[in-house]
Amino acid sequence: MAGRAPGRPLSMSKTPHSGLDYIQSVIDVRKIDPSPSPYQHRRHFDEDKLRELAASIQREGLIEPIVVRAKRDRYELIAGERRFRAVRDFNEMETIQAQIVIATNLQAGRISAAENLQREDLSAIEMIEAIMEIVDVELPLSATLYTDDGQPTDFKLIGVIDLLLMDENRELIVVDNKTAAKPMAQSTADDDKQMTAYSYLLASNKYVFPTAPVKCRFDLLRKLKKPKIEHVHTSRAAADRKRFARISNAVLAGIDAQIFMPMPSWMCGDCPQSKACQAW
Ligand code: SF4
Repeated sequence: MAGRAPGRPLSMSKTPHSGLDYIQSVIDVRKIDPSPSPYQHRRHFDEDKLRELAASIQREGLIEPIVVRAKRDRYELIAGERRFRAVRDFNEMETIQAQIVIATNLQAGRISAAENLQREDLSAIEMIEAIMEIVDVELPLSATLYTDDGQPTDFKLIGVIDLLLMDENRELIVVDNKTAAKPMAQSTADDDKQMTAYSYLLASNKYVFPTAPVKCRFDLLRKLKKPKIEHVHTSRAAADRKRFARISNAVLAGIDAQIFMPMPSWMCGDCPQSKACQAW
């Protein structure tokens, strides 16, 4: 008997551009995550144009389905944010045609970037962001921590970089995703030690030259009535990485000597030193 691939529903097909498995479906608009899509480069949505689009979808139907992927019991939007907003905010439709794809974060980013590049009405800045190449998503890296005079220590620095992009000048940008109620001050972005750790990991793993600066960006999901994503740019020089290593070594030497300066935070729960720290 001719069989089908195990576990693959009969209705599953391959998307023409990405080659990913997808199911063509009609889904409940309310089941799509309302936060701005992390893959969307467009920052400005013209309300009048959204109304026009909503009216046209109401009249003629949706010519091109949106693209989503399942996320827990909801859907995450990958491509088609204008169509989704038009339907959600400006017409009475409760359902929308969608391609439900099975995609990794990297694949989702590529689908979105491909769609953005096929559009003509992106602003110049949005276009530059759309043509940024996604190098990796949720990239795990580790590196030996070195002393000031270049000696390796027994300590390993480990971290997972949310997103690594390559800009139009073929330079890497390390992106850290955050959620926040308030805007991020430039000084906070410039001083953030986690970002310096990411730049240390990139330089140690030869993604950039040891002496080169690293471009960095915080993508801040602002928890507003209408959530939006803000970008805060910063950079890290080789001197920042050196200072970071010096501070890290001093902190680790302090812990080795059982000297604690307790700074209670969410990390205390998993901290192997918590007993000694609380007793200090
Ligand atoms: S318990 Fe650990 S994480 Fe918390 S303040 Fe002490 S050393 Fe720091």
